[in-house]
Amino acid sequence: MPKLKKPSQRKTMTDVPFSCACGQIKGTLHHASPRGGTHAVCYCASCRAGEVYSGAPDPAPAPVGIFQTSPHLMTLTTGHDQLSVFSFGPKNLLRWKADCCGMAMFNTPRNPKLSFIGVRTTAIPDTTPIGPVIAKGFIPVPGKKSRHENLTALLVMAIWRMLKSLVTGRWKANPLFDTAAGTPLHPVLVVSAEERAKLPL
Ligand SMILES: [Zn+2]
Ligand SMILES: [Zn+2]
Repeated sequence: MPKLKKPSQRKTMTDVPFSCACGQIKGTLHHASPRGGTHAVCYCASCRAGEVYSGAPDPAPAPVGIFQTSPHLMTLTTGHDQLSVFSFGPKNLLRWKADCCGMAMFNTPRNPKLSFIGVRTTAIPDTTPIGPVIAKGFIPVPGKKSRHENLTALLVMAIWRMLKSLVTGRWKANPLFDTAAGTPLHPVLVVSAEERAKLPL
């Protein structure tokens, strides 16, 4: 018979607050730990363009920090009306921004059944609980193709979380989507190619 875990052996749950720069959008990331998500950084042009389009400065040469977790582990307490969502193409990733202060906040797939969310670490005042960066995407290499570090782990973890959410039905608890309809709670603005060309390429 399996032994019951003593309370001291249970996973410690960590609630970590997040907010936009001006504080109108606020929420909590539950179980925000190295086990509850993946702390990564990305140097890609799309992430950089996402920052600039949101109203933030181009982070280059620094990367964009992301904590990738499951949407059911996020609560949005205030400021839903200040959020808007855009995408650099009709099938691309959804990028959520704070209209109040021009900050990139989240990125998500278009289909809520693909249940994962990337939370920008600039929105997390204290990133200590999420642990150090364990994966890096699109690191620039002069004169060569960009390289990745530990991207496999990031993808494997994202797929694992997605499958778990699907099997348990937790994917239905998503603060950014009407999961019954399968649509985001705000209309998606698809950025035109002309507008995109003005952003980091
Ligand atoms: Zn704000
Ligand atoms: Zn990126």
